[in-house]
Amino acid sequence: MAPVIISDPSQMLALVEDQKRVGKRVGLVPTMGALHAGHLSLVERATNHTDFTVVTIFVNPTQFGPNEDLDKYPRNLQQDLRLLSACNVDVIFTPTVEAMYPTGASTRIVPPEVARPLEGEIRPKHFEGVATIVLKLFHLIPADIGFFGQKDYQQTRVIGQMVEDLNIPIEVQVCPIIREDDGLALSSRNAYLSDTERLQAVALSKALFCIQRMVQEGERNSNALLETAKQTLADASIGQIDYVALVDKHDLSPVQRVDSKTIAVAAVYVGKTRLIDNVFLS
Ligand code: AMP
Repeated sequence: MAPVIISDPSQMLALVEDQKRVGKRVGLVPTMGALHAGHLSLVERATNHTDFTVVTIFVNPTQFGPNEDLDKYPRNLQQDLRLLSACNVDVIFTPTVEAMYPTGASTRIVPPEVARPLEGEIRPKHFEGVATIVLKLFHLIPADIGFFGQKDYQQTRVIGQMVEDLNIPIEVQVCPIIREDDGLALSSRNAYLSDTERLQAVALSKALFCIQRMVQEGERNSNALLETAKQTLADASIGQIDYVALVDKHDLSPVQRVDSKTIAVAAVYVGKTRLIDNVFLS
């Protein structure tokens, strides 16, 4: 059956409450649209693991900084609806900015400590906006399971910690990163890349996989691993590196020696496009 499209928040909540009343297990997949196979992998997981799947499409203004790409963020609702129609989704929630942030709505969530390093240092209010919108969505769609991508690893930690700290009755499932054949992680922002930049961009995953391979071969020293990764980026003329780091996967603090709890994370600019990626090293 074609998914129902809802943009009114109270109608959304009423529908999910009806479904829960009749014993359905509800799955939630929050997105900002411009959907690709990465998003669809979360949707597939949700439809396989729950009885009633809600996908939200909302470009959340509060998580963008003043000089970021809110205005030009890719929006393609018609294609998103077409893609989701083929996916057994029950509801697509597409609220307006005015509905989610009516005039005077000024409450914000203070995100947990894990929001502080990495993205948090470079995008100061980003996780405040993410935590606020995700909590609002958890209230409007009181799902049994929320599905999030490892692609935004720090985001999954922020949301997981918020769920724990605030006793939110939802299970957070983290789904693997879907990549292009050459390794580039799928991202809505890849649409910004020119042909030349697209070729350069592969260096990001290459650098992280290089760390992974060196760890498999026995290297444990973070400095040595990071030097090689930076060289891989430099070889591709990727000049602006926001960070390449080896951090503890729980609290995201830097580690000197890699072990099974370490994750390699990176954020770089390819031209004007900011890309992030990560790999586990266990
Ligand atoms: P976004 O629309 O960028 O906010 O992403 C919505 C959800 O899709 C987030 O949980 C992302 O982590 C996830 N996601 C984005 N890209 C990928 C990918 N390449 N593989 C798996 N999940 C992804």
